[in-house]
Amino acid sequence: MSGEELMQRLRAVLGVRLGGPVVARDPVNLPMIRHWCDAIDDRNPVYTDPEFAARSLHGGIVAPPTMLQAWTMPGLVSKDVREARSAAGIFGALRLLDEAGFTSVVATNCSQEYVRYLRPGDLLNAETVIEAVSEEKQTALGVGHFVTQRTTYRDQYGELVASMSFRLLKFRPPVRASAGPAATTRPRPKPAITHDNRFFWEGVAQRELRIQRCNACQRLQHPPGPMCAGCHGLDLGWVRSQGRGSVYSFVFAHHPAVPPFEVPNLIVLVELEEGTRIVSNLVGVAREDVRIGLPVAVEFAEVEPGRLLPRFRPAAA
Ligand SMILES: [Zn+2]
Repeated sequence: MSGEELMQRLRAVLGVRLGGPVVARDPVNLPMIRHWCDAIDDRNPVYTDPEFAARSLHGGIVAPPTMLQAWTMPGLVSKDVREARSAAGIFGALRLLDEAGFTSVVATNCSQEYVRYLRPGDLLNAETVIEAVSEEKQTALGVGHFVTQRTTYRDQYGELVASMSFRLLKFRPPVRASAGPAATTRPRPKPAITHDNRFFWEGVAQRELRIQRCNACQRLQHPPGPMCAGCHGLDLGWVRSQGRGSVYSFVFAHHPAVPPFEVPNLIVLVELEEGTRIVSNLVGVAREDVRIGLPVAVEFAEVEPGRLLPRFRPAAA
């Protein structure tokens, strides 16, 4: 399917109502409100205390507005219902994108508008249409389409009570770094150099590992920050680390497979002999030989022409 053909098929579903609205399984009710308030630790008594609520301007219990989506959630629906739904509407459009290779998804933004407070006894229904599909866009995650859905919530009398706009990005998953040369030629993200960490990157450029030190209490800290976490002092300097230490913790990161990083990516937390810790990469060791306590030493690798990065390698104890 060509890009233009895909856009035509997606445009055909914009604003189209397919199937009936989803009707809430239960009316707005106090037990569900209580569970919600417990879960997010919202202690506003107007949601849960009938006496307090009766004296409030609402004159009775109301549901937290942000609970909107909870009322029409389908629950653990049967396989038949799931398949019928996935053939139509929103899911049909998302499936079109899947078939065109945009198989990954990430929610990008959501906004809700509340027309009135919901009260126990309100029985909601929700109807969702696709409001917009963007042209193909290049994003940091990959090439994809933004899909904006709009859900309209009404009560049992057909009155509008709320609406929600929900946007997601359907994108082509990045090629794994091991899959070919194209993936590995993507440049690495550049470090964000600030007033606080400039000394660190200037050190790296000179093949020095510099650690921030508080001039008042001599405490070391990494990553660098604007204030000493020990004494809250603002007078900060740095020391040159010998770059020796041991593996304090490590992880083989498999996801996300973002070029140009190799997968799995061996990330270590090194405890430096000077007494602070630093996150880095570990190289020159077989996967099965990585262990906590392994002695390591820093080295500076030119990861791209002219760009040095500190990383660690096993060293004699
Ligand atoms: Zn300090």
